[in-house]
Amino acid sequence: MKIKEALKIAKENGLPELEAHLIICSIINKNKEFIIAHPEYELYEESFIKLIEMRKEGYPLQYITKGKEFFKRWFYIEEGVFIPRYETEFLVEVAITYIKKYNIKKFCEIGVGSGAIIISILSETATFGYGTDISRKAIKVTSINAERLGVKDRLVLKKGSFLEPFKKIYNDLELIVSNPPYVKIYSNLQKELFWEPREALFAGEDGLDFYKEFLNMYNLSGKIVILEIGHDQGDFFRKMGWKVLKDYSGNDRVAVYNSRR
Ligand code: SAM
Ligand code: GLN
Repeated sequence: MKIKEALKIAKENGLPELEAHLIICSIINKNKEFIIAHPEYELYEESFIKLIEMRKEGYPLQYITKGKEFFKRWFYIEEGVFIPRYETEFLVEVAITYIKKYNIKKFCEIGVGSGAIIISILSETATFGYGTDISRKAIKVTSINAERLGVKDRLVLKKGSFLEPFKKIYNDLELIVSNPPYVKIYSNLQKELFWEPREALFAGEDGLDFYKEFLNMYNLSGKIVILEIGHDQGDFFRKMGWKVLKDYSGNDRVAVYNSRR
């Protein structure tokens, strides 16, 4: 099948042209300029049709293009890791503000996923980061991104739950950041979420399981804790006296506990 035929099929299937270009790029391993300049170039029909079908089922484009831009940088992504969200850039901004204000040197992240948060913070500040994730693939993808983006020597990654892998140095960790799972198990889901790892998204009937368990497990005195939360989860944190910040769309998005005021 020629590129021009593939583009026609994509159009007939209602796929935006930009997406069709990106999918073809991923199959023939060439850039967009090449595709536009070579309409007669042959590509493997079966791979193309399969990816078009998968897109119709909501398979995320980022798992096809193997990447996502986050906080000015390009992160490598593959199926099995959570795709970083644009909204989470706000969490990174808040974390960087606290790190600068309190001159923080050592921080940790629970649930690194692709490394989008921890690597963005390391790239913007002179800090040392400790990251955990229960998913082996997340640890792998984060180390690939840390190497690519040049922060590997200021990052320690360990597979494990919460901050258990770093128990021995817990006292040294000045700031804790996390974008944990917070989706309610029975909520109506966008079909794209279906393709992402469940352990990255769901947190019980009220979406608060992760937060409750975390708060039970650790003594936070002396720490600053910065968590991403769902738009309807602000009151849970306000009731405990935390500060809740709204994102640029006006939704509750980040909860902050600060014992260093
Ligand atoms: N930080 C990444 C981001 O913002 O793109 C990933 C966030 S994703 C919503 C949540 C991540 O937390 C997933 O990678 C998941 O595997 C991990 N996770 C879930 N429960 C965890 C736990 N108890 N301890 C450590 N990691 C956990
Ligand atoms: N913001 C994500 C979504 O619903 C949920 C992320 C999370 O649970 N941390 O797309």
